Amino acid sequence: MSTSSVCCQMLGGCGPSPFEISMLGWHDGITSGMARCRTCGATYHVEMLAWDDNQEMRVYGFKEVSRQSYDAFMALQTLPVPLPQQSQERSDALTLRVRDALATGFECTLYVAAIDLSTEIRAVRKVTFPIWASLFDLE
Ligand SMILES: [Zn+2]
Repeated sequence: MSTSSVCCQMLGGCGPSPFEISMLGWHDGITSGMARCRTCGATYHVEMLAWDDNQEMRVYGFKEVSRQSYDAFMALQTLPVPLPQQSQERSDALTLRVRDALATGFECTLYVAAIDLSTEIRAVRKVTFPIWASLFDLE
């Protein structure tokens, strides 16, 4: 399977990543960010949910957000690096755009395990409410 044909809608498990990641948080690897599927263009907010003892293998939750809110975020993120005296302002503005993006999506159903999210995916699970219900023994 070539990278170009991989899509977030039909991830089968271990394989090349379809995601273009724009990093927000970093701790020896991405801890949060925005993502776009290179194939179908679906846009997500991504957050690290768990990692192994070596903080190498990580599990990420993907929350689909509107394309418009993602574009608004990227328009700001891809501007040239601001002058030091303006960097706080930029950071605050980005925080607002992330908040706006998060307000466009609620459910987090796509869970991805990876060491480097933008190059290779190790495992994928779609976790919908019935799966949570069985996990929590909800009736
Ligand atoms: Zn896709």
